[in-house]
Amino acid sequence: MKILVTGGAGYIGSVTTEVLLSAGHDVVVFDNLSQGHREAVPPAAEWVQADLSSPREIGAAVAMHRPDAVMHFAARSLVGESMAQPFAYLRDNVINGLNLIEACVTGGVERFILSSTANLFAAPESLLIDEDASVAPGSPYGESKWALERALHWISETKGLRYGSLRYFNACGASDERGEHHDPETHLIPLVLQVAAGQREHVTIFGDDYDTEDGTCIRDYIHVLDLADAHLLALRALETGNVIYHLGNGEGFSVRQVIEAARMVTGASIPVKIGPRRAGDPPRLVASSERARHALGWTPRYADLEQIIASAWSWHQRYPNGYTN
Ligand code: UDP
Repeated sequence: MKILVTGGAGYIGSVTTEVLLSAGHDVVVFDNLSQGHREAVPPAAEWVQADLSSPREIGAAVAMHRPDAVMHFAARSLVGESMAQPFAYLRDNVINGLNLIEACVTGGVERFILSSTANLFAAPESLLIDEDASVAPGSPYGESKWALERALHWISETKGLRYGSLRYFNACGASDERGEHHDPETHLIPLVLQVAAGQREHVTIFGDDYDTEDGTCIRDYIHVLDLADAHLLALRALETGNVIYHLGNGEGFSVRQVIEAARMVTGASIPVKIGPRRAGDPPRLVASSERARHALGWTPRYADLEQIIASAWSWHQRYPNGYTN
């Protein structure tokens, strides 16, 4: 198939592009480089630098490349930032997403896969969050993804677009050539590795007074290559209907446990400081991915946290400044 990947210069989008190409698909990356890196885009992908805020630019890309499917990664994606900039998050994520969905319908694209999020669940009723859990977004970021899930539901009902919504828990790790590089970096694992590498003095734990075993937030860390595999499988599953899946390892690790695992992997001491809670952070987010495992035959290959961190560490050692030369 030919797949248009928005945000293909970003972290999860670029790794998924790499995996789609290896599986024999053609890929067109559509990215405005507001966050992503041109160097992250695999050379075998076609490249369109354009903006999702412009229906004209998206329409032109769809008309020119005539993709069979669109995978939509491009978005503002920081929970904490969305609490400080709710208008930017709601406006850009929702309107740009709607622009893209409309261009797909107008341009005859029949398959759409949305990057969605565990931030749909601010107050989960059970320890493992499955697809039947009630949605209660934890931030404007989560709300913007929920708005797009609902839009896709209605566009599917009324226009026949087939869609998949993949709700990622905490993406991490790296492929040989592509890893996590944000500027500024805000994610836990790359920050911890920067401390291990001596590029930062300490990592700040955002709150140690949560109602969890060690007082720090618990997340479900899933390797980016496993997320990319799930996209391939979901694309196939769209032939028989719409799909919504939770993608995680089903095991929670606290911020302190992540730092401890990184100490084991790197051998560095990794000093920490305790700071205040970050707005919008739910205490515990752990997936039940049973549905994706059974229905898609998805089996995450990286179930071990140290193995995941080791892959991020080896990328970091190879590219200490990420995509910046
Ligand atoms: N976190 C932290 N210090 C940091 C960055 C993150 O304590 O410098 C915590 C954050 O509060 C959350 C977890 O680490 O509980 C994972 O955060 P990240 O930003 O990596 O991903 P998110 O859960 O926001 O998608």
